[in-house]
Amino acid sequence: MNFIRTALYEINNCKSCRVEQTACVYETKPYGNIPQQNFYNSVVLVTTKLSAKDLLTCLKELEVKIGRTVSQLWGPREIDIDILFYDNFIYSDEQLTVPHKEVHLRDFVLQPIADINAEFIHPVLNKTISALLKESGSDNILNKVAGKIL
Ligand code: ADP
Ligand code: MG
Repeated sequence: MNFIRTALYEINNCKSCRVEQTACVYETKPYGNIPQQNFYNSVVLVTTKLSAKDLLTCLKELEVKIGRTVSQLWGPREIDIDILFYDNFIYSDEQLTVPHKEVHLRDFVLQPIADINAEFIHPVLNKTISALLKESGSDNILNKVAGKIL
């Protein structure tokens, strides 16, 4: 929980970024088959003057600053900050894909987005977040651990 609070504070403190809204925080079962502790997941709505690429660079720097020491795919980590959407922008290269490739497959990502805007339309799949949540087939959320921080 403290990592989430720190991340929020740091994103808001980041040059050219402002946290506009936050979602509830959810405890979730880890994804994949690596035995590890549960995760806490949440989502923030940010306004920024940065391009999507510059935002990614900034978020990666924040992960290091906050204390991400391990980066095994789907393995345990202190913090993971991803760009889920960048308005309706659609983009993909080796470093960055927006919308995030797996956003529609994960209830622990869709539910917190829905806390902020359930009617947001995925620009590639052309479906609302609430429709994607019903279809996701993902059942990783265990419980809500905190309400909206902002
Ligand atoms: P995870 O897939 O669990 O988030 P990492 O945080 O280690 O794993 O990310 C792996 C790589 O995914 C990053 O180095 C980054 O360049 C790339 N990536 C592609 N699209 C995105 C995105 N939308 N948000 C964040 N990282 C992304
Ligand atoms: Mg990541």
